[in-house]
Amino acid sequence: MLGSQTFRTYQINRVPIISKDTWTDSLLGYYICPSCEIVDRDKDRTIVGHPCSRCGTPSSGGIAYFDRTICTIADFIAELYPMPDLDSPRSIGPSSHPSESHRLAILIFFCTLGETLQQQFLERCVSRSDFSPKIQARLLQDILHPLEHIEQLFPMLTGATWQQAVTAASKRAKSDFIHTLLFFKKVVKKKNQILHLGNKRAVSSDMAKQCFDHMAPLVKLFVELHNVYLAQPI
Ligand SMILES: [Zn+2]
Repeated sequence: MLGSQTFRTYQINRVPIISKDTWTDSLLGYYICPSCEIVDRDKDRTIVGHPCSRCGTPSSGGIAYFDRTICTIADFIAELYPMPDLDSPRSIGPSSHPSESHRLAILIFFCTLGETLQQQFLERCVSRSDFSPKIQARLLQDILHPLEHIEQLFPMLTGATWQQAVTAASKRAKSDFIHTLLFFKKVVKKKNQILHLGNKRAVSSDMAKQCFDHMAPLVKLFVELHNVYLAQPI
């Protein structure tokens, strides 16, 4: 696990790269208002008494939105390559070609990050539904194809189709989340092929690098969905 100083230097293939923060630092910079439940990156929420920019409720000190599981997965990837700035429009991938074993690790971690983000979002949605605890547990069972899973569940939990929600989120955030999800689907398919066929050479250098391009948009998509479907109306 990486340290917590503000700036640090990584040595990747003898090329020093400066990264601003760890992913834990960045992800813990998303705060949720306990009153209206909006999620944003207003670091002043850590100041007791700071009013929520949406509902005006004074902060009790800042509550991180993402749990440690997601931060830990993200930092695993950071141990291979430096992480991007979540506030910049594009992620910064590795400057050199990842080794074969690193490509496989990046792909597995990227899938795990996406599946965990999705699972956390679905758990929050399902816990607010009227389904019985038994049905809620069944709805959240681990599945082989995560995107097909959320496509099926989303309409019954929110009243909107997954496609409609992602298209609207892309417009609001001015980010192409559809492109990111298509890539996520491709990577999950590749991961399943590798798990069944055992061909770790199947991960191309380009695919591993693209995982970095799509990490920040993936995080932002689920924050955006939270703010539309889970934040309290005011
Ligand atoms: Zn609020």
